[in-house]
Amino acid sequence: MEAREVLKLYFGYDQFRPGQEEIISHVLAKRDTVVLMPTGGGKSVCYQVPGLVMPGITVVVSPLIALMKDQVEALLGNGVNAAYLNSSQSAKEQQQVEQQCFNGQLKMLYVSPEKLLSVGFFSFLKSLKINLFAIDEAHCISAWGHDFRPEYLQLKNLKLQFPEVPVIALTATADRLTQRDILTQLYLQDPKVFISSFDRPNIYLQVQPGQKRMEAILDFLEQRPFQPGIIYCLSRKATESLANKLKEKGFNADYYHAGMSARDRERVQEKFLQDNVQIMCATIAFGMGIDKSNVRWVIHYNLPKNLESYYQEIGRAGRDGASAEALLFYSFADVMTLRDIINQGENKEQALAHAKLDRMQQFAESTSCRRKTLMHYFGEEYPKDCGNCDICDNPPTSFNGTEYAQKILSAVARTQESVSAAQVVDILRGSRNQQSLSRGYDKLKTFGVGRDVAPQDWQRYIHQLINLGMLDIAYEEHGALKLNNGSKEVLFNGKNVELVKFQPVDPKEEKEKRQ
Ligand code: ADP
Ligand code: ZN
Repeated sequence: MEAREVLKLYFGYDQFRPGQEEIISHVLAKRDTVVLMPTGGGKSVCYQVPGLVMPGITVVVSPLIALMKDQVEALLGNGVNAAYLNSSQSAKEQQQVEQQCFNGQLKMLYVSPEKLLSVGFFSFLKSLKINLFAIDEAHCISAWGHDFRPEYLQLKNLKLQFPEVPVIALTATADRLTQRDILTQLYLQDPKVFISSFDRPNIYLQVQPGQKRMEAILDFLEQRPFQPGIIYCLSRKATESLANKLKEKGFNADYYHAGMSARDRERVQEKFLQDNVQIMCATIAFGMGIDKSNVRWVIHYNLPKNLESYYQEIGRAGRDGASAEALLFYSFADVMTLRDIINQGENKEQALAHAKLDRMQQFAESTSCRRKTLMHYFGEEYPKDCGNCDICDNPPTSFNGTEYAQKILSAVARTQESVSAAQVVDILRGSRNQQSLSRGYDKLKTFGVGRDVAPQDWQRYIHQLINLGMLDIAYEEHGALKLNNGSKEVLFNGKNVELVKFQPVDPKEEKEKRQ
């Protein structure tokens, strides 16, 4: 049977979604494949259809037992012989599934990574006719990602033990570093990476200063009567007090957080889904697996801890494709709170968490198209401005910053792309500190060429270049700045760079507001 017939017969769809068909034919050619597709994009079909087209059984590695169950039930409902193996089953249940595999009755077997790595499992797999390995949630292999699972590192053995079986790795979250980890850690052979755009062009992106957010929210809500939306807060207490304040003002609001009983959570969630509650004040616990297509807006009362979370959360708006809005409140106080939280956490994860928060902060302070900044972060090319964000609507006045950009980029080049933003600032400012002297930076041609610009302004121009996609930052090398194709345009082809003088939030005024 052909792919299209399988899609119709088992899944009832007439057409592939953008990207799916290309991916499937690549898999059918027995090539290794990486799929980056946003949640809801239709990743499962990308391995289920080729798995059904080819003779033999497909083995799917999936980290979440609950999801595994759902998938298998859905497949069985569609007439596909599927089963799963994981630690939640009794020995007898597992034996039955293994027997079905031996008998060639199954087309699709879901296994947890623990099960896959258990003693004797590989020799069991060797006795089967496997047509494809699918690795779901493949970002779990990367320590850089937010969901690292050490067992995933062992998945390289699939390729080592079964070099002739193609592998397809799928994920909805992968910045550039995670992408690279997926490719290298799985030992994929000449893989092709398929990136479906992560862009959600119907969501209007907007950032406002956090000083008077309560007034701003009331204003916002008054202009959007009856539109369902979510307000994300950092703390449980804040969700409750915000919901109560809104109720006092006559709005139909409720709250949701992980400290509530399962029953209460289910009750308010259901009310929101049924449009009986308009405004949900919630912690990030709210929204996972909730499928409500008509959420019209998402407000971040507090700054999220990184861009992955931000993007996931605003992605809950406008799933129906109609226009939607994302409003983020940004305050210096929130940044300090988040830094405190990070410092209380696990030591070895702190540097990475701070680096990710830096990027979140840079986004909030962005002076160029917000969508461009986001898409660059997720490793997508985004050459034009989006026309659907606050910056595009209201561009800050810029000046020709080509010379500044060239100074920054040549300092990066002359230090062999080994120095951080702070060190570049030191070099440009000609600071004779120990590090500059011991490494001989004072002998560089760029040393001290930027004394006329204040250090914090240099810092901002560097951030702007990163947001513009003209400079990269390597967190795995202590934040070393790296040149990319955009930088080369500036350095060697004389490309013009527009920079903006940024007006920072006043930390003093902020402090008084900090609860
Ligand atoms: P992901 O794993 O990427 O989050 P799923 O594989 O769960 O997404 O697919 C999301 C939804 O889209 C599912 O309801 C799925 O049945 C549906 N879907 C997938 N492919 C198609 C298609 N070609 N046509 C219509 N619906 C599709
Ligand atoms: Zn824009």
